[in-house]
Amino acid sequence: MFASLAVSIGLQMILPFPYGLAAALGIFIVFPLLLRRRAMSRMGGYGESGTGGGFFGASSGSTKVRYVCLVCSNKHNGGACPRCGSKMQRADF
Ligand SMILES: [Zn+2]
Repeated sequence: MFASLAVSIGLQMILPFPYGLAAALGIFIVFPLLLRRRAMSRMGGYGESGTGGGFFGASSGSTKVRYVCLVCSNKHNGGACPRCGSKMQRADF
C-alpha cells in the first residue's frame, strides 16, 4: 500500500493534473486487486499440496483434511486411529 502511494505521488509530479489523478486512482484500484489475486493463488497452492496442513487447517476449518482408518473406517484427524490404534489410513476430503 505504501509502494502504491509513493508511485501515485510520483505520477502526480510527472503527469499534468487530470491524468496524474486518474493514474493514481487506477493504481489504488488495481493494486489491491492484484495483491488479492496473488494471495488467493498462494492459498490455493497450499491447499493442493495437502501435506502438513495443521496450520492452515486451524485458520480455515472448511478445508480441513480428515483421515479414514482402513481397518475400522473410523474418521479421525490423522496419526494413529483413536478407536483401533492402526496407522493404516487414507485422506478423506
Ligand atoms: Zn481404526
